[in-house]
Amino acid sequence: MVQARAEELRRLLNRAAHAYYVLDAPVMEDPVYDRLYRELVALEEANPELIRPDSPTRRVGGAPAEGFTSVAHRIGLLSLDNAFSHDELDGWYARLLRVLDREPPAGSPPPALPMVGELKIDGNALALSYEQGVLVRAATRGDGERGEEITANVRTIRSVPLRLDLEQPPAWVEVRGEAFIPESTFTAINAERAERGEAPFANPRNACAGTLRQLDPKVVASRGLSFFAYTLHLPEDWRAGPGDPAVPRSQWQALDWLKAAGFRVNPHCALCPDLAAVKAFCDRWEQERRGLPYATDGVVVKLDDLRLQEEAGFTQKAPRWAIALKYAAEEAPSRLLRLTCQVGRTGVVTPVAEFEPVPLAGTTVSRATLHNADRLAELDLCAGDTIVVRKAGEIIPEVVRVLVELRPEGARRLELPPTCPECGSALVREEGEAATRCVNNGCPAILRGSLRHWVSKGALDVDGLGIKLIEQLVDRGLVTSIPGLYGLDAALLASLERMGDTSAAKLVAALEASKHQPWHRQLYGLGIHHVGEVNAKALARAFPSAGALEAAALADETGEGPDPLTAVFGIGPEIAQSLRQWFATPANRLLLERLGELGFSLAAAPEPDGGGDGGPPATPLAGLTFVLTGTLPSLSRSAAQALIEAAGGKVSGSVSRKTSYVVAGEEAGGKLTKAQDLGVSVLDEDGLRALLAAEPA
Ligand code: NAD
Repeated sequence: MVQARAEELRRLLNRAAHAYYVLDAPVMEDPVYDRLYRELVALEEANPELIRPDSPTRRVGGAPAEGFTSVAHRIGLLSLDNAFSHDELDGWYARLLRVLDREPPAGSPPPALPMVGELKIDGNALALSYEQGVLVRAATRGDGERGEEITANVRTIRSVPLRLDLEQPPAWVEVRGEAFIPESTFTAINAERAERGEAPFANPRNACAGTLRQLDPKVVASRGLSFFAYTLHLPEDWRAGPGDPAVPRSQWQALDWLKAAGFRVNPHCALCPDLAAVKAFCDRWEQERRGLPYATDGVVVKLDDLRLQEEAGFTQKAPRWAIALKYAAEEAPSRLLRLTCQVGRTGVVTPVAEFEPVPLAGTTVSRATLHNADRLAELDLCAGDTIVVRKAGEIIPEVVRVLVELRPEGARRLELPPTCPECGSALVREEGEAATRCVNNGCPAILRGSLRHWVSKGALDVDGLGIKLIEQLVDRGLVTSIPGLYGLDAALLASLERMGDTSAAKLVAALEASKHQPWHRQLYGLGIHHVGEVNAKALARAFPSAGALEAAALADETGEGPDPLTAVFGIGPEIAQSLRQWFATPANRLLLERLGELGFSLAAAPEPDGGGDGGPPATPLAGLTFVLTGTLPSLSRSAAQALIEAAGGKVSGSVSRKTSYVVAGEEAGGKLTKAQDLGVSVLDEDGLRALLAAEPA
């Protein structure tokens, strides 16, 4: 199993590296490559017998491309090891101290070694050879030992000096750095390619590599490449002339030397006294890099002291004295574990991919919705597939595609089940609809969804009725409909998991108080398809009772005269159709009836001064203004407001001399102080309830 996986990864990574380094046309995203690469490294570390000479972990870059002369490097050009977090940076530093024999005694902090932080420019490494101060050869990194000779092309890069600005240039010197394409040029090149019908370059690094390998230097010259120098190899016997920079002893001095010799050195680097300063540098550039006119994909951290660098040495692929800290990936591969389905309150079935947890853009993700059956088919998911997951910024995770190359043999195609996973009834997909639905009104998933919606903040706003409790109520058959919530008694609730006498009593009180929420909230709470909070308000204003709305919805549809529903601002034909369907369903009309029996007004509150024989509800608070502050023991802010308004009172946001009462709960703030200063009466919840119960004045 492990062996087969290692083989699979080697095959895939080698193919990807060839596409990336030689063809300049990557077949997968960089973070996906990195993650699979690390998986192979981990497998090989745990099972060294699996290591093969052709493993990508043994090699730097790709073989030199054909069409150019391949040349041997005087000094090998290596890659860099990667760290993806501060913890991994700590790990690298601890290993470095061990190699240098500078580990701290147990319990002591690690010794601080100065380091240089540089931006990791997303371009291509070049090795430039100068003899007697004159550029004689430029080569790509290639496989680290041999690269492609591209001197004629590099001569066109204006920031590469053809002659060094030194009084006594060394007999030879090798300078390394990064050739790159500025972001604006990259965009322009891709636009031109698109116009010619050619595939765009995947990133500036590939565009730069493709440009450096152009056979015609004039084309290279037109592409506006640039170059930042960062490594210097001087012969040991070089002596500086009177005006020349001294022989550098550190990376920081080497950067100064390069500047003095006429190279462009990236100005955004820092000499950091310790690891904390390095981390601060990395954090800062993770944000600020977005403002740079060229692409960077991390920060390179290098031990400053060149003598210590030499002592630390190299692994097979990379120096031990340097590390690239890469920024949090927004894309990563993961292994699909299973496909599950969620049934929402409207019965819509959403397929969900559950996969092995992966860290992505700062959080760990393990599931992503796949929207609908079409998306599922488009992705072509099979059991055990390796998938690419993306999470950009705050956006919810999504499955981007499948790495078909890693599909297990004979894998089974995944599809939506024919029946509802919750109630077992057949799922339905209407002609022309993207959604697949469970149409069984008794489905527990639909009931749970409707209850959650009914008690949610924008609807009836019932505190203390969370998902877990709703699940218990539905699963045990204690509640089978919205009105069922209002038949619950405190003793029964107190016997449920994670409930006590106090929370049960509070919940019963909160449910009771929710009966006084205004009509538009009741309407929204019904969860009619397409009727959101804003539409519910508009409808409630136009149709001040459920009866009026029902009459409008069921009005003769002969097409004569304007449709009373769509005459309301903001209500389109789709919402109108959904309302008509809802009111035409007998079960829904029965629901309204039962809510009415429970004491829901299902209508807008009457005007405070309304008279008439039917008699408006008691208005004990008419003419009084209240200010609410702090948390009341059982009433949410909006429930208290609803009670006050239903009793004819007004609720205001700020305290003045005109305020009749301030109702204060726990952690009441400045409003309470102001009330006390102004001598306004202060009530607690019990005081408010007493007022509400009083006869109208
Ligand atoms: P690397 O890019 O991670 O790091 C080494 C390189 O960093 C150096 O060669 C140099 O070119 C560059 N660099 C930039 N600024 C530097 C600085 N200030 N100091 C020193 N070096 C600096 O390693 P790599 O071996 O070139 O390539 C691995 C990268 O290539 C990974 O990010 C990987 O995702 C990508 N890759 C992708 C695919 C794919 O299919 N998408 C395939 C192969 C490799």
